[in-house]
Amino acid sequence: MVDDIRQWVLQHRELILDTNRRLVSIPSENLYPRGNELRVQQEVKQLLEELGFETQTFLPTDVPGLVEHPAFLNDGRVYDQRPNVVGRLRGAGNGKSLIFSGHMDTVPQGIDAWTQNPFGGDVVGDRQYGLGIFDMKGGMVAAMMAARCLSELGYRLKGDVLIETVVDEEFGGANATLSCRLAGIEADAAIVPEPSNLAIGPINQGGVYFRVSFQGVPGRNFSGEKVVNPVYAAARFLEVVRQYHEWRNKHAAVPPLFEWNPELVTLVQVLRAGNTQMELADRVPSTCSFDVWIQCFPGTTEEELTEEFTRFYQPLVNQDELLSQVPPVVEKKIRFLPGTGIPADHPIVQTLEAAGRQTIEEGLPTRGAAFACDSFMFNLYSNTPAVILGPTGGNAHAPDEFIYVDDFLRLVEVYARTIANWCEATKN
Ligand SMILES: [Zn+2]
Repeated sequence: MVDDIRQWVLQHRELILDTNRRLVSIPSENLYPRGNELRVQQEVKQLLEELGFETQTFLPTDVPGLVEHPAFLNDGRVYDQRPNVVGRLRGAGNGKSLIFSGHMDTVPQGIDAWTQNPFGGDVVGDRQYGLGIFDMKGGMVAAMMAARCLSELGYRLKGDVLIETVVDEEFGGANATLSCRLAGIEADAAIVPEPSNLAIGPINQGGVYFRVSFQGVPGRNFSGEKVVNPVYAAARFLEVVRQYHEWRNKHAAVPPLFEWNPELVTLVQVLRAGNTQMELADRVPSTCSFDVWIQCFPGTTEEELTEEFTRFYQPLVNQDELLSQVPPVVEKKIRFLPGTGIPADHPIVQTLEAAGRQTIEEGLPTRGAAFACDSFMFNLYSNTPAVILGPTGGNAHAPDEFIYVDDFLRLVEVYARTIANWCEATKN
């Protein structure tokens, strides 16, 4: 089995990279609270049907019980024209089933310049570039190509293989993944092909998104008015956030699976003050705010993380001359994304590890994924345990996002072997 799968993948390198190109060339940016995933989802549906999958498409909000569910995030997202696609390749029966689940929305292209065409899918050297190719259109293509590989090689599966592509994952969406669970789409395990750099991730980090705002008094002091500049307060508090980052990374109890990368990130992502639409400024701004994304290890609750942050900054605010006058207002945005996971010796992890050893001599590492994603919707709100495994690459959420081509082909192999073992392939 090792030889024919590898041979198929190497012989179909161009098909595999072309399929990445097919999806990357269709923009599907998440423009919160809206998104334009429709065209790429239509393409995915067609691809899955070409591979013999039965498909269903539905809007997340069409699923009964979604908006009433405690994990539904109601922050004004609009789901018109944003269908999920679920494909099922029926097995002969009496085998274990497997879902590959990922999102087809990408982050917005952003204002930073690319040196490559974000929608080109161009291969340059050992890399293939594209917006969303790493996070995570590529991973979903790898799953489709793995299914195609097995069927073209004449393998029959006992268990079902499902490939579901959802909308609106970026910006802490996760409602669409929840809607699939509430629609009853379950399997014996799920693989989430988020960009894990070919590491098997039984657990992953969580995170919370805060907006920190400062209110000043705008203007100039022509008549002796007392203006209060909120930018200075924000600058002071930014330093507090930096200190918090250092402090918690010194004191955090690092779970063994995160020892490879023990850092908990604290990312200030945007800073706002004044009218940035105007070329020149004419006053001290009335407000200043910044957004900070704070990650946590699995097991940390939203309350624990919020309390840790508050307990750190509050005394520093109280004793600061400026911040005590212009205090931070901390507001949670989107939702808390919990870090969750499954046991590191879960059968799906062992199956992936075995497939890794069959594909790459040294095998694949099993370690915590240092990012938040919507795998928690499986682990907390369904009977399907989820594990993360996706491509190698770089520049997710940045210009010149890419995957490494050779590793990508190995990922297709790992997925094919995993499907073959888990869903019990037989060859006639
Ligand atoms: Zn992602």
